[in-house]
Amino acid sequence: MLLNEKTVVITGASRGIGKGIAEIFARQGANIAFTYSSSEAQAADLEAALSAHGTKIKAYKSDASNFEACEKLAEAVNADFGQVDVLINNAGITKDNLLMRMSEEDFDEVIRVNLKSVFNMTKAFQRGFLKQRSGSIINISSIVGVKGNAGQANYAASKAGIIGFTKSIALELGSRNIRSNAIAPGFIETEMTDKLDAAVVQQWRDGIPLKRGGSVEDVANACLFFASDLSSYVTGQVLLVDGGMLT
Ligand code: NAP
Repeated sequence: MLLNEKTVVITGASRGIGKGIAEIFARQGANIAFTYSSSEAQAADLEAALSAHGTKIKAYKSDASNFEACEKLAEAVNADFGQVDVLINNAGITKDNLLMRMSEEDFDEVIRVNLKSVFNMTKAFQRGFLKQRSGSIINISSIVGVKGNAGQANYAASKAGIIGFTKSIALELGSRNIRSNAIAPGFIETEMTDKLDAAVVQQWRDGIPLKRGGSVEDVANACLFFASDLSSYVTGQVLLVDGGMLT
């Protein structure tokens, strides 16, 4: 029970990686406040399923890209849970296109949802962390933010921005015992990748040193390390969870 009596906030946990993090964290004894954008039914199902582990679990419909919404969320979560120990900024979207075809709207929206959301949430929850003189912030970046990717200039910029933000916050808040780290997942197999051409997916797997795509559990276990006291002397880091893809 690595997260016994810890309260964790996760953005975008109605599906995908966020949901995987919530599932592993609930098994490790965490109380969980998680957000979603529109998947009402999936969020309610997850809230019910995770509550079976016996800790407090609550879903909130909240737009992470909206500054006021994040302030209200922090008020509600603090009132419901009393204290927050870990913040995981996971919500993210893609709007891929070559620069030639990328609209201003698609650039702005990806930056707003992926990067501005990290500012909004960190600012809203830092007050509690400062007061209690402890906290762990975990930001989900991507290997695309480290390496870049043709057709994803907006997404890569947002994910690279997250890394700069993560390191700056580690420097600013370290003296208050608040840690800030990023995780950069590689090719993670989810429901979304299930829909892709099998031959293309196999080609991706073959190019990875560990010869497989990552699972949501692989990413969640890295989050577990940063959320727990096992990483109490680790801050300002970017952990690549990519099967060696960028090595
Ligand atoms: P996903 O399956 O598309 O899930 C995205 C989650 O974010 C959903 O719960 C969604 O809620 C929520 N969300 C979207 N916009 C939001 C907003 N404005 N406010 C609050 N919540 C919002 O994505 P994923 O593949 O699990 O990715 C999760 C994170 O990992 C993202 O930051 C992504 O960039 C990063 N990542 C993923 C991979 C990969 O291979 N999958 C690789 C590297 C990095 P609704 O269900 O309500 O829409």
